[in-house]
Amino acid sequence: MLKKPKGTEDILPVNIDKWHYVEDTARAVLDSYNFKEIRTPLFESIDLFKRSVGNTTDIVSKEMYDFMDKGDRHLALRPEGTAPIVRAYIEHKLHGPEHPQPLKVYYMEPMFRYERPQAGRQRQFHQLGIEVFGSTNPSTDVEGIALAMDLFDELGLSNLSLHINSLGKPDERENYRNALIEYFTPLKDQLSEDSQRRLEDNPMRIIDSKDKRDKALAESAPVILDFLGEESQKHFDEVQAFLKALNIPFTVTPTIVRGLDYYQDTIFEILATDDSIGAQSTVCGGGRYDGLVEQLGGPKTPGFGFGIGLERLILLLENQEVDMPESEGLDVFVMSLGEEANMMTLQVVQAARKDGLVADRDYLNRSMKSQFKTADKLNATLVITIGEQEVQTGKVQVKHQGTGKQTEIAFDDLMADFMGEYRKLTVDTSAIDKYFGGKY
Ligand code: ATP
Ligand code: MG
Repeated sequence: MLKKPKGTEDILPVNIDKWHYVEDTARAVLDSYNFKEIRTPLFESIDLFKRSVGNTTDIVSKEMYDFMDKGDRHLALRPEGTAPIVRAYIEHKLHGPEHPQPLKVYYMEPMFRYERPQAGRQRQFHQLGIEVFGSTNPSTDVEGIALAMDLFDELGLSNLSLHINSLGKPDERENYRNALIEYFTPLKDQLSEDSQRRLEDNPMRIIDSKDKRDKALAESAPVILDFLGEESQKHFDEVQAFLKALNIPFTVTPTIVRGLDYYQDTIFEILATDDSIGAQSTVCGGGRYDGLVEQLGGPKTPGFGFGIGLERLILLLENQEVDMPESEGLDVFVMSLGEEANMMTLQVVQAARKDGLVADRDYLNRSMKSQFKTADKLNATLVITIGEQEVQTGKVQVKHQGTGKQTEIAFDDLMADFMGEYRKLTVDTSAIDKYFGGKY
């Protein structure tokens, strides 16, 4: 049997309501913050990720889905959303005056990383993310964080905690890096193998390592916050003051360093505090990347963004047993009995759809009993029956499933105004009748 590739998931029709719930809720929240959607290609030149995410990160060094195409171009399925959007930002001159500034965009798309699959960790997964270009205002950081928190709240999630940190400006970050190398070098033998490898080129990753040995040593390591210059400190202080002004609880956690090279100043993560998603507890991560646009050849432009893992979000919704709306039933189901009824059934079901109703029918000429069962299962409001007799008389049988009331309607009337006939049978007028004594 052919199987889906390792680390991928099929999202089946029985599960799609959850996805629509998340996507619809997200779009509504994003709209209210005036973000516009952007869609970029699924693959990009691999250089884009090497030059932005960074060669020493796990994403680029181990997790890339890269390949040569038939024209000998070295491409990669995108592992994250920010770099492609920065590329598009520069390529289409979205910094120009004809675009709103700052530019606020969002994406909701699949990402690809060659990782060891487990719950909440896949090789193809989905991220919802935002990017804001052109504002150094700490309000931008705080609104971005508030947006993510609002979304979780709107979805009905609880038990989430916000952790923030500052990486300072690039030179401060560099000083910190050197201090870390100095601190860890004499302890090298006691570090995990991964961290021994990282020591020279990405020592900051040792700080957020999940390995016990690394964790113990990291406890007394230098702290980035001691390396912040005046400007960075002011920005970070304001972010905290603004979060407090919005009553958003947070913890300053200096061990959060994020995996990507391009961050500076504010970074943050939102974690599940219960064990809903096990080891994969980070649902959202992001921060400020003021140097990235310039680094990729664009004009000097500040940036801020985050990414939310949608699979982890849905795991949280499931494990926290959040009530999610399910799609409602059909307005009309047409039972078709006998071959003679086939054409009239087709006309009726199409007329219902044309008038905006949700309608379906039997295609398989099944027994009346099993067609009734289907109508029930589909939770249809009206069930229309068409058999040989209905075709001959030009009148169809209609049953209101809620009240059990049966009526006969002329086929021609349905064709002329399906919605009108539907309303007559389904809109409850009893209150009006009572008030006006049935006059209307
Ligand atoms: P982790 O430490 O869990 O590997 P990360 O730092 O690599 O996360 P980011 O690059 O910040 O993750 O991506 C943002 C979010 O995307 C994560 O917080 C997570 O929710 C989600 N995510 C990342 N990688 C995966 C994956 N392989 N499968 C599912 N979701 C993922
Ligand atoms: Mg990762």
